[in-house]
Amino acid sequence: MPPVLDDHLRRALAERLRYYHELGIYDFYRRQPQVAVESAASADETAEPARLLTSQPELREEMPARHSAVVAAVAEENIFDVLTPKPEYGVADPKAALKLIREDLGDCTRCKLHKQGRKQIVFGVGNPRADLMFVGEGPGADEDAQGEPFVGRAGQLLNNMIKAMGLRREEIYIANVVKCRPPGNRTPERDECETCSPFLMRQIAVIKPKVVVALGAVAAKNLLAFNAPMAELRGRFYDFLPAGARSNDPSWQGAKLVVTYHPAFLLRDPRQKGEAWKDLQMVMKYLGLEPPKRAAE
Ligand code: SF4
Repeated sequence: MPPVLDDHLRRALAERLRYYHELGIYDFYRRQPQVAVESAASADETAEPARLLTSQPELREEMPARHSAVVAAVAEENIFDVLTPKPEYGVADPKAALKLIREDLGDCTRCKLHKQGRKQIVFGVGNPRADLMFVGEGPGADEDAQGEPFVGRAGQLLNNMIKAMGLRREEIYIANVVKCRPPGNRTPERDECETCSPFLMRQIAVIKPKVVVALGAVAAKNLLAFNAPMAELRGRFYDFLPAGARSNDPSWQGAKLVVTYHPAFLLRDPRQKGEAWKDLQMVMKYLGLEPPKRAAE
């Protein structure tokens, strides 16, 4: 008999898996989905357990095939980019260039998230000349309602993190991998990320930050185009160039990228705040930032 999960249990399981992913625990699933893929390919009629596994993005994301698929998609995007100039190319003013990207996005229907209950597109907010960018996963309910990333409880915590770094929210730029709210705050699926993230890459190429902070595993995975546990991803700088996007400024040789926990995860597990602070201190040192006096006392 194939296993049957009711909706409540399925949602609870998905939430639990997401929590483990944020902690960097992936190994439970590595082998099982691999077997599931093989059985799905070889025996459609008898592969119900495989379908059950592969229909859940939180499980599917750790399949070995995903890694190569993401890398391949980025490579293709680079090729198409050479052939297709973007409207913002040649526009020196980053504010004007971001406006052109927003116009190009339009009332976007490029992926299925456009018809899954979004109220509006959440493009990104902040200083078009920011040295520091934060990139999250996707809008939640508050962000969908207000049209701005990180405005709910997680946004409040992000604001506190920014303040602790001696910065103001207006000085940095904040965006997400996908610009429309996934229904029920589920993890954005691979095709949604691949369709939407080229716009994020173009935003990064226009802003030319010195540092990009990926908030959580989904952002890290999509920006870096590879998959690893948070414990491995954190604690180091990556050289980052936005895939498939070109900067107008030949002197900009890309940004440093740092991975830390998503604020929503830190709300669920405040014990990890100290670890996130270590990541941010790394960024502060690189950018020459001092914590404000009150935070240092
Ligand atoms: S998530 Fe991105 S690609 Fe998908 S509909 Fe929204 S703006 Fe378009």
